[in-house]
Amino acid sequence: MVKKSKAELVIKGIAAASGIAAGPAFLLDQQDFVVPERAILDDEIPIEIARFEESIAHTKSEIQDIKDKIAKEVGGQESQIFDAHLLVLEDCMLIDEVKKKIASEKASAEYIFSQVLKRYIEIFENIEDAYIKERSADVSDIGRRVLKHLMGETRLHDFDTLLGDIVIVAHDISPSDAVSMYNKSILGFLTDIGGQTAHTAIIAKSLGVPAVLGLKDATLRISNQDYVIIDGRKGVVIVNPTEETKRLYEKEKAKLALVEGEYVNIKDVPAETTDGRRASLMANFELHGELPAVLRSGAEGIGLYRTEFFYMNRIDLPSEEEQFQEYRRIAEEMSPNPVVIRTLDLGGDKFVSSLQLPREMVPFLGSRAIRLCLEEQEIFRTQLRAILRASAYGNVMMMYPMIAGPGELRAANGILKGVKQRLRDKGIAFNENMPVGVMIEVPAAAMTADLLAQEVNFFSIGTNDLIQYTLAVDRANEKMAQFYEPGHPAVLRLIRRTINAAHDAGIRVGVCGEMASDPTLAVILLGLGLDSFSMSPTSIPQIKRAIRSMKFSDMEELARQALKLSTGQEVLEFMVAEIKRLVPDFYIYDAQNK
Ligand code: PEP
Ligand code: MG
Repeated sequence: MVKKSKAELVIKGIAAASGIAAGPAFLLDQQDFVVPERAILDDEIPIEIARFEESIAHTKSEIQDIKDKIAKEVGGQESQIFDAHLLVLEDCMLIDEVKKKIASEKASAEYIFSQVLKRYIEIFENIEDAYIKERSADVSDIGRRVLKHLMGETRLHDFDTLLGDIVIVAHDISPSDAVSMYNKSILGFLTDIGGQTAHTAIIAKSLGVPAVLGLKDATLRISNQDYVIIDGRKGVVIVNPTEETKRLYEKEKAKLALVEGEYVNIKDVPAETTDGRRASLMANFELHGELPAVLRSGAEGIGLYRTEFFYMNRIDLPSEEEQFQEYRRIAEEMSPNPVVIRTLDLGGDKFVSSLQLPREMVPFLGSRAIRLCLEEQEIFRTQLRAILRASAYGNVMMMYPMIAGPGELRAANGILKGVKQRLRDKGIAFNENMPVGVMIEVPAAAMTADLLAQEVNFFSIGTNDLIQYTLAVDRANEKMAQFYEPGHPAVLRLIRRTINAAHDAGIRVGVCGEMASDPTLAVILLGLGLDSFSMSPTSIPQIKRAIRSMKFSDMEELARQALKLSTGQEVLEFMVAEIKRLVPDFYIYDAQNK
């Protein structure tokens, strides 16, 4: 509801997922543990302990119900995220401490529980260990639920009871929260932290809602139920807008709906320039429930399947059979189009509860992705077996993330060879010629692209990381956003080098980072000769329209000119001006460059 007394407030953040949404804010705050102290009498002690036990039992059955529901609606592996929550409820130490303190301190169950919980969370949060930190999120999540039962309130963020359309406002959003938001009326996301290629941005795109991240203090400036407008194209949030602003955005939204109508019309036409150069547009895939959106988008395949989401938010590792069934299902649904399965990319900013990774000073430069797989070979082999088995059921391709040069590639391929041999020995079917590629996302890989190209079937350039590692800029840090420049000459030169090396060796090369979904940059990429683009399904129509509106020969010329410039800023300004000159309505739907 609009609070008329409040003035309109505009906050600028980072445009992370496009679109416009408007509705009441819902804060995922950390203030839920402020519970008033209530003293009790001696004879109330057993009553409070019983109430506490009851709330634990209640919460357990509630979690079990949610788990069953998610298993039915979304899928088995997503539902296992709740196993970690169930474990917290069985933690005897925490439960015994609460019971003892109710008796010794003579205070209400909710007060004692909130105090014990706070202390647990503080201890966990002060330990610089990703695994423990993740446990702390579980404890705090579960704590809210228990408190809700004890206090008889529903003000806590229980996604299952969310009613109506809401805009989520949070300091950050965890992947586990994101999974729970499937099939809910979430209009969009606003967060204090996070950059354009941070996890939250990628998940918001998977869910098809707008997001503005890196707002710094959104959780302080926006209150629950404030009416907010999110403009995900410009990275702007308007809190408590005036009637005039609301009308303006209604018009903008209507325009966007028209655009979507136009996009539906080009779903089945190829991404082909006006002079006949074709590119293939594929979809990035993160979460189980995303397949209908991929199929609706007109994607010509899945160009990047981020399998690590399979491993997140659960207490065990996914078995070979579980992975095989999932990869097979997706391969069959997409067939005859390709599905490029990327092997596990954990580490860096992605952690899993089931794998205790050692603490590192700079995780992005530590044991991440292929390095981790070469250390934890059994986990790697299990995944390779599952992928190979799925390759018998569709057009499955596989690629390794974070390869830094031929040494790692050979080590990974050596393991693959062994796994294939064992499958052969056992008579298990797989595609002997399953194409194997590498992601080019470390500058060292781009510099050795000519060598790598001799030993793989394709390249996929991961620009999110390539930019991060080339420019030494943390991709998820909103404070570094101004230095995160996709058009930086160093980045463009590495991309050009990679494309040329691939083509010299006769293999195909694509981009699967966020750069692929920016129309201006897509023109440079195609102009440099890129063969395929992979992006969130919702971005596909816009890029297709852009490609279909220009001549390839113009794109080649623009790319040539852009590569002569000295800064990322110059490149962008040059490209936007030239594209507008050549195709006046190129940016007609693009609020940022119009
Ligand atoms: C990339 O780095 O560009 C990429 C596609 O991989 P991710 O975003 O999953 O690191
Ligand atoms: Mg990457």
